[in-house]
Amino acid sequence: MSVEKEYALDWIEKNKDRIVEISDKVWDFAELGLIEFKSSALLADELEKHGFKVERGIADMPTAFVATWGEGKPIIGIMGEYDALPGLSQKKAPRKEPLKPEAPGHGCGHNIHGTSGMAAAMAVKKTLDKHKIQGTIKFFGCPAEENFSGKVYMVRDGYFSDVNAVISHHPSTMNAADLRSSLAVNSVRFHFYGKASHAGGSPEQGRSALDAVELMNIGVNYLREHVIQDARIHYVVEKGGDQPNIVPAYARSWYYVRAPERDQLDFIYNWILDIAKGAATMTRTELKTEFLEGSHNVIPNRTIAELIVQNMREIGLPKYDDEDWEFAEKIATTITPEMKIAQLKKSKRPGWERLVDKVMDDEIADPWGEGETSHGSTDVADVSWQAPTVEFETATWVLGTPGHSWQNVAQSGVGLGHESLIFSAKVMAATSLDFLTEEEILKKANEEYRRRIGDKKYRSPIPAEQKPPLDAWER
Ligand SMILES: [Zn+2]
Repeated sequence: MSVEKEYALDWIEKNKDRIVEISDKVWDFAELGLIEFKSSALLADELEKHGFKVERGIADMPTAFVATWGEGKPIIGIMGEYDALPGLSQKKAPRKEPLKPEAPGHGCGHNIHGTSGMAAAMAVKKTLDKHKIQGTIKFFGCPAEENFSGKVYMVRDGYFSDVNAVISHHPSTMNAADLRSSLAVNSVRFHFYGKASHAGGSPEQGRSALDAVELMNIGVNYLREHVIQDARIHYVVEKGGDQPNIVPAYARSWYYVRAPERDQLDFIYNWILDIAKGAATMTRTELKTEFLEGSHNVIPNRTIAELIVQNMREIGLPKYDDEDWEFAEKIATTITPEMKIAQLKKSKRPGWERLVDKVMDDEIADPWGEGETSHGSTDVADVSWQAPTVEFETATWVLGTPGHSWQNVAQSGVGLGHESLIFSAKVMAATSLDFLTEEEILKKANEEYRRRIGDKKYRSPIPAEQKPPLDAWER
């Protein structure tokens, strides 16, 4: 290992207590997307204290920021998220027990996500400074990953236009830097406006907005026969009227439409817009569409993924103490073998069978999944269209733990989460230093990026005049 990397890892080790403290504070704050005021301020203040120049409230989001240190090229970006999920409040206990009923909780481990990136950026800064290395390190504080795609606004406003490579880390059940893509997505609301009337006495005077919602859903469900295999269409009816003896004057549905590539998504999405218009025509109601958010598919990068795996192996997996193991074993009893096997199989990780009888992932897999698509979506994707980008994972949660669950919340705030936090910060610091000290790697990652993008053009999925929905939680 190079002296530069050793210095960075040593800095993280020496500052472990403070790093863990910050992650636990963000866990306590458990703030929802776009209102992560305390969490983003905590991370931004810490970076500022360590000499970073911090620009807050970027891309029209009060909780988005970028912290910069250094000068000139290369410019390496590290991303962090800090939003929690609604209703997932949970104690740091291996049984389901809310801390504050119905309050938010860190069900996706974003307390670790934000803090690991912050710690890595600080360790890189210390190292560049000490070893007089040329280059710039940027930490991107990215709000609202879970619901409003904060990064897409940051991309649209040009905050990623000058970076040469970007890395990001996500807590997981596995240690992995895989090569799967994700689905591009549009999230949109359909508002239908009809006319209220007595449903018994004068139904002929009414125009039912609920009928429009239902007919639209029927139309879309018939469309399913004619979409590609990997597309996903799902909806909820958010509002369907007040009581049966009033013809509903207003009704509303909320759709997610997903497909592997943006043009495939556009094709299905435009068809759905036509179906919505058709439903309005059939019912003589008015339609208003409200575009909420969208993102692209991830462009993977093998060069960076391999580099990350190499660094993970060089650093070595965390060692858990007895207390960590005890917690992990108890969580494992809440996960059925069927759930666990289904999750492992779905990961398509070569040799996943070896993990069936294990509690924690104790291997570091080679990058896998080239040409495959996982069926979720992420706003990391839009960054991956700007520069070579990889979001890797480290084992934080017991194998088989379902996503967005109380088990995730609990594990993200205890020793298992702390170990994953420190390990991932080290991996990000080491990988950033590789980029900053070895020109060839960065060149190779960029060549691969350009090859994968080819002549495809990035077009922001959100309309040009659209602002982030800062009042979303009040509505
Ligand atoms: Zn997440």
